[in-house]
Amino acid sequence: MFEIIFLGTSASAPSIHRGLSAQVVKHEEHRFLIDCGEGTQRQILQSGIGFKRLNRVLLTHGHLDHILGLAGLLSTFMRWEAIEEIEIYGGRSTLDRVHDLLYGVVLRGIRPPVEVKLLEIKSGLIFDVDNFSVTAFPVSHRGPDCYGFSFEEKSRRPFLAKNAEALAIPPGPWRRDLVAGKTITLPDGRQITPDQVLGPERPGTKFVQVGDTGRTDNLVEHVQGADTLVIESTYLVQESDMADRFGHLTAARAAQLAVEADVQHLILTHLSRRYRERDILAEARAIFPNSYVARDFDTYQILRGTCEKVVG
Ligand SMILES: [Zn+2]
Ligand SMILES: [Zn+2]
Repeated sequence: MFEIIFLGTSASAPSIHRGLSAQVVKHEEHRFLIDCGEGTQRQILQSGIGFKRLNRVLLTHGHLDHILGLAGLLSTFMRWEAIEEIEIYGGRSTLDRVHDLLYGVVLRGIRPPVEVKLLEIKSGLIFDVDNFSVTAFPVSHRGPDCYGFSFEEKSRRPFLAKNAEALAIPPGPWRRDLVAGKTITLPDGRQITPDQVLGPERPGTKFVQVGDTGRTDNLVEHVQGADTLVIESTYLVQESDMADRFGHLTAARAAQLAVEADVQHLILTHLSRRYRERDILAEARAIFPNSYVARDFDTYQILRGTCEKVVG
């Protein structure tokens, strides 16, 4: 299961009710901060999620409404010893700008007490653990090196406890080895193969995050089949000429992408202050009924085929 906590949902400038782009993606003990607009620190505090293990940052691109919060976040981490290092992932030109911000403004020759790792991403796998991985893919927005991120749980075969009981396999390391795909020999000499206790393979949950983007035709293959897609929706269709000019989407285009890519649920973020939330929602739902508009501090839990808002 992936959990998404929206920390900022406004485009370009904050509004009274919405902070600038930032959200947290959690998977068990792993946490990722996606983008870090100005004011993100305070949003983290207000959300109650805490700073612990929040030291892996994925940047969709280098526009100021997505990165300025890193300056404040780093200056807080520098005084807070529980964090030993911070990893910031981004495209080349995004990292260049982040480097200027952190080393030219925040640090200015001081050696950071926390290790700052600027990790350049290219298309492909950027993070991989036992049960899920994160892949970056290119996105067309103003300027180079913009990326989207696909979080995918690995498919797995469920352990069939009933079969294990019927075979009288004792609990403990034997069952663990079977789940790991190993054939075991029980103390009574019987050999048990994984196929005897594991069900058919089940695909994992897929969550895709796209930041600012002006095109959707090149995203279909990456978004394909996602249980949930989070994507920008800066404009309404009445101002689609502006959306084109500034490299952004309308709610309608985001919804069309969800249809084309056979997505299960769509959550819109990065909203312009000029529109009412219900108009954005209506435009998207007319095309793709499973659409939602994120608000700051909304939390969604994403499982295979489901996307539930956590009522807090
Ligand atoms: Zn933006
Ligand atoms: Zn942008």
